[in-house]
Amino acid sequence: MLREFHCIQDCSDCCIYRQYYPSVDYGKIGVLLLPEEKKQVESLAKNSKTSITIFPRLGIGVNKKTNGPRQVIAYQLMGNIDGDYCPFLDTKSDNRAPHGGFNCLVYESRPLACRAYPVIKEDRTTVELDSNCKFSCQYSNQASKNLLDNELGALNRISSRFDRLGGQKIWRYATHVGEEPFKNLLLPQGWYLQEA
Ligand code: SF4
Ligand code: SF4
Repeated sequence: MLREFHCIQDCSDCCIYRQYYPSVDYGKIGVLLLPEEKKQVESLAKNSKTSITIFPRLGIGVNKKTNGPRQVIAYQLMGNIDGDYCPFLDTKSDNRAPHGGFNCLVYESRPLACRAYPVIKEDRTTVELDSNCKFSCQYSNQASKNLLDNELGALNRISSRFDRLGGQKIWRYATHVGEEPFKNLLLPQGWYLQEA
């Protein structure tokens, strides 16, 4: 039987836990923000009196003066406890989302990456459910992609930005955010040119 995607009762995992990516040394990543979303998120934080940290995530081209990218093409909203816990996740009040998880304070205006999740792109052509999502753990073989139209739409809007980067120098930002026992493995915070 095919199942429509719905969050598992009381789960807030994707708003809490962040992965080390692409490897432990780069540190934990935050919620991906497209450049035009950065200002919007900063304004949401100001209006909701929420303290946030946004780092760059990906860049292209070469700026010889800074030894970094010429243009930042993606940013990331960092979690606030060792890289975990999105600052917009309301863990303090008793309010809960309809499925029982913590509320997102900016749900109606949440970033595209949050709208797309748990649909992710494994490579340029393969779309799948993130195995870290509790729903995927339980039902991935039964989930119908036809029932994930909203999530796929958001993912397509993100991935269309990154599909035409062939031939460009790509930089990734190491966040230097993580926890024991990995802290001594973390690269200094900053830009690293990726292998072509
Ligand atoms: S991890 Fe999956 S089931 Fe849990 S809140 Fe996120 S999307 Fe929903
Ligand atoms: S912005 Fe909202 S939906 Fe996105 S990670 Fe934060 S709390 Fe979750």
